[in-house]
Amino acid sequence: MSFYSTNKQTPVVNLKEAVVKGLADDNGLFMPTHIPQLPASFFENTQKLTLPEIALEVSTALLKDEMSREDLRTIVEDSLNFDIPVVPVHDNIYSLELFHGPTSAFKDVGARFMARLLAHFTQDSQKQITVLVATSGDTGSAVANGFLGVPGINVVILYPSGKVSNIQEKQLTTLGQNITALEIEGTFDDCQYLVKKAFLDKDLNQKMQLTSANSINIARLIPQSFYYHYAYAQVKDKGREVVFATPSGNYGNITGGLLAKRMGLPVHKFIAATNANDIVPEYLHTGFFIPRPSEHTISNAMDVGNPSNFARLMDMYDNSLEKIREEIIGYSFTDAETRQLMQEVYQQYDYVLDPHGAIGYGALKKYFEEQDRITNNEQQIGIFLETAHPAKFIDVVEDTINQKIEIPFNLQGYLEKKKESIRMSADYEALKDYLISQA
Ligand SMILES: *Cc1c(COP(=O)(O)O)cnc(C)c1O
Repeated sequence: MSFYSTNKQTPVVNLKEAVVKGLADDNGLFMPTHIPQLPASFFENTQKLTLPEIALEVSTALLKDEMSREDLRTIVEDSLNFDIPVVPVHDNIYSLELFHGPTSAFKDVGARFMARLLAHFTQDSQKQITVLVATSGDTGSAVANGFLGVPGINVVILYPSGKVSNIQEKQLTTLGQNITALEIEGTFDDCQYLVKKAFLDKDLNQKMQLTSANSINIARLIPQSFYYHYAYAQVKDKGREVVFATPSGNYGNITGGLLAKRMGLPVHKFIAATNANDIVPEYLHTGFFIPRPSEHTISNAMDVGNPSNFARLMDMYDNSLEKIREEIIGYSFTDAETRQLMQEVYQQYDYVLDPHGAIGYGALKKYFEEQDRITNNEQQIGIFLETAHPAKFIDVVEDTINQKIEIPFNLQGYLEKKKESIRMSADYEALKDYLISQA
């Protein structure tokens, strides 16, 4: 399997290069040159398979030229050591609970898989690899956790002091082992600037091997297709068409679903569900793609004004608005609507949504209401992706449903630990000196 850049200005690369590089030299995103079809026998049997077994079949079909099945088995079993159940909410609406991993958000799936793939490809290298990440909260903890204890790799996370929630900070600063948190006296933009500058610093890159764990890495995308297959397997005995609603920010998650469909998963439609940052739904409605500065909302992991995976989305549909509209529908919701959905689902169905999942739920409901005018939606099943545990957004959730919620065991564990960070000014020379001292 080789990978081309969506900008098509560079030669194709192998998996190792795509994973280590992250971004192509022409700044495009890597895509597989060929998407294999899974055999009919796979789809006939998925109900009998566990999540790692499904992941093994999918990843082997995609990556078998570059990795042995045994290596892939180890990687998927280590990465997917938690369940991703489909839970009925009401009628024909189901929640795909992606939050049972170590940091309680769906990014665990991609980050854990990527960490192990990167370690696999660099295991023979004598050099230590340093993964450098800037985070505004959630991504950093999933990445750090994904790499925790992975041999040969050190992770340095930069986060803005005083600008992440208590639980987020604990998730970043209490891991120990090969993870270091730098508490930067500045904003998230400062952190991102420092990281970019480090990647461009030739002198520094000669002294140490730096890698990014960016969310556009193909190694984070591929595993995000596994759970669409697993979710489908859990409802397929109902014999109805399946629609997925994916709360979207950078569109990595939904692109994983599209990949699953290209490999043969019979998904009827995908719904791209957003908050006020509705750049893609707007594109689907009007045909104009107009990135703009992001707006702050209560579903802040989706506060993205220029979605990074849009290039992949367009590439998958040959840049055709008509084609993309046949498979993807877009809906957006305000914060007030999001809160109302959370209240409604809690009061009527006793299910606690986080603000992101609430948007996925709302999108399904809206889709079915529109379908009802045309046909009977009982013929379809809707699955929304519940991308984070409600306790990750405890203030918004408790305030909205007016009820205390339980903090899951893994999150509680972080709260009890002692924060350890290195405070640093937002000054590049300070960062560079620190990195060199660790090399
Ligand atoms: C990152 C994130 C999203 C958005 O996922 P994309 O792949 O960027 O579209 C949605 N919900 C939560 C909780 C997230 O952390």
